[in-house]
Amino acid sequence: MQLQHIFATLSKKQQLLQKGEGVTFTMRDGKEQRGVIMSVGRVNYRIHCESGEIYRVPFAMVRLARGPIRVPKLEAITGVETVLPLVLHESARLLRENGIELPVRYKARVWSTHFRSDSHVQYGERCLLYQLTPGPARDNVGSNLRRFRITTTAPARLAMLICHEIAHAVAHHRYGPHIAHHGRQFYSVLQELVETEFPEIRNRFTELLAEHTQAPASLKTA
Ligand SMILES: [Zn+2]
Repeated sequence: MQLQHIFATLSKKQQLLQKGEGVTFTMRDGKEQRGVIMSVGRVNYRIHCESGEIYRVPFAMVRLARGPIRVPKLEAITGVETVLPLVLHESARLLRENGIELPVRYKARVWSTHFRSDSHVQYGERCLLYQLTPGPARDNVGSNLRRFRITTTAPARLAMLICHEIAHAVAHHRYGPHIAHHGRQFYSVLQELVETEFPEIRNRFTELLAEHTQAPASLKTA
């Protein structure tokens, strides 16, 4: 069957593309992007582009590029270990204050940052490192910051990441297990947290990062 043939061809091509390989893909507006694969997900590649932007792109849209690709160096302003204690502490505090008993954990070498009801809230090392890396935040955190018209800085990204994960836990606690993952209830809780908790958490990260980074002043202030 034709369809099976197409899938077979795609999956054969997928196997050729790995982390570090130079690739090209076309944006919705027709613009051609060239970049390097940062990581391979279940259905997407995370691609660091020559333009400096980072995109998640479905496997089928990505082709191997010809010639060398030079992407701007992305360097985190400090290590994850600098911010991890505060991330865990603030998350545990918010859970406690909302009457939720749930462990908060950290996992090295993975991106995966999530809330699992009746199990845990997890922060992945790569996700935390990404929040500490200057550049356009192309993840949920970045889109949340834009939604609430908050300037994208490392302290703001870390504070929003915490509010985002805790909002999942609070929404689940308040509305039950059947609400949409990023639905109306989730966003009403997130908005509450952004209004009541976000500014203070951002201030704490601003102070912490000011002590630990030699980054330009513009990166230090929220
Ligand atoms: Zn989420």
